[in-house]
Amino acid sequence: MNQFFDGTRRRFLQIGIAALATTVARPVLAAMPRIQGARALSFHNMHTDERLHVTYWKDGKYDRVAWQKINHILRDHYSGDVHPMSVRLMDLLYDLQHKMKHEGTVEVVSGYRSPKTNLMLASYTDGVAKNSYHLKGMAIDLRMPGAPLSRIYRTALGMRRGGVGYYPESEFVHVDVGPVRTW
Ligand SMILES: [Zn+2]
Repeated sequence: MNQFFDGTRRRFLQIGIAALATTVARPVLAAMPRIQGARALSFHNMHTDERLHVTYWKDGKYDRVAWQKINHILRDHYSGDVHPMSVRLMDLLYDLQHKMKHEGTVEVVSGYRSPKTNLMLASYTDGVAKNSYHLKGMAIDLRMPGAPLSRIYRTALGMRRGGVGYYPESEFVHVDVGPVRTW
């Protein structure tokens, strides 16, 4: 095995990925501490009245079955279209609730929106962006029972992890994992 390392750097690079994985990467990975714990979210869809409590991350892994359930409850409720929801968005929701010490449900006013639904909403509602992050599964309009909207807004803003919009008349806060901005 030493012959791999007594040559030049070029010689070292000639070792295939597979060889690297067995000779170098494995001992390094084995030395890393395991990430343990679990992250769960609870949703209540205000349009369909569906509820979901789901552990979406456990011991360093995102759960595929949990994700199907998340994608389903956050689907476009007008068209029924399901779209993969952003991993970063779920982590943002989890961290937002954690920061607020809010252990209850996230009430969902709007999750994924298909292009057709977004066009339809934009035609009669102010504040529906043409290139909304809702179209990419990267945004959610929400409230949390027992938590003032202004507090959700301020906390999300302070996290600086994407866009945050305040809609007190419609009783929701928009959060997305696009560029940091506010309205
Ligand atoms: Zn929104």
